[in-house]
Amino acid sequence: TLAGKTALITGSTSGIGLAYARALAAEGVSVMINGFGDADAIEAERAALEALAGAPARYSDADMSRPDEIAAMVARCTDELGAPDIVISNAGIQHVAPVSAFPVDKWDAILAINLSSTFHLIRAALPAMQARGWGRIIATASAHSLVASPNKSAYVAAKHGLAGLIKTVALEVAQAGITANCISPGYVWTPLVEKQIPDTMATRGLTRDQVINDVLLAAQPTKQFVTPEQVAALALFLCGDGAASITGANLTVDGGWTAA
Ligand code: NAD
Repeated sequence: TLAGKTALITGSTSGIGLAYARALAAEGVSVMINGFGDADAIEAERAALEALAGAPARYSDADMSRPDEIAAMVARCTDELGAPDIVISNAGIQHVAPVSAFPVDKWDAILAINLSSTFHLIRAALPAMQARGWGRIIATASAHSLVASPNKSAYVAAKHGLAGLIKTVALEVAQAGITANCISPGYVWTPLVEKQIPDTMATRGLTRDQVINDVLLAAQPTKQFVTPEQVAALALFLCGDGAASITGANLTVDGGWTAA
């Protein structure tokens, strides 16, 4: 059972991260959520997480582009909830533009938030996992950690890098009772996907329906968006003892996208 353990989940005020937090809190896991958004909405969500099974929930506003804030978040989690047994690196942003016109500040931000934050998080959280001989590290990668799409150079580069980082960590801790894996969703209906529709409409000269059906779901053989709850179900499984031998894996939840 996972009850009594502590999980730190980045980028969990919305979308997939929030679904991870709900799935773990429902099992009695103490959770520290993180991300941006409306303060009242975040506080309501934090309280709702505590109500699921009675385990404490905390919120950190640490910015995943800031290594110092990531270290401080891990320290605060350790003080208030206990050293994280489970870390899920999930915060991520997207920007859609051709490589020759890709804004340099967007490149830097995507590499920092989608890739480097995972290094800083693991670096800070791993020693306590090694000391207790148990840990679960999960990164939300993407089908874009395995295949590319045009106009997403920074995102595809960051997600491919994330897959390499997680494989390396898995090898380093393979005998320490700690697993490290990527979960790679296809298109999941979350604010991150909704927000890229206008840019893709502009870049490719398409209507909203054309972007949804001919661009986003074109690659997904099921022709349906993945749900955040389906992604969270895999994370919950990876946290269990039944998944103790699954490490260094990059597991897709992509409606068949990368099989095509
Ligand atoms: P989302 O936009 O709903 O959630 C992103 C979360 O990250 C939010 O909580 C946001 O506040 C937080 N965040 C953004 N910048 C941050 C920063 N600098 N510091 C701290 N938190 C920050 O997006 P989502 O779709 O749930 O995406 C979650 C993860 O899943 C991302 O890594 C994304 O790349 C990945 N992913 C999403 C899809 C999809 O189709 N939605 C597919 C594959 C992978």
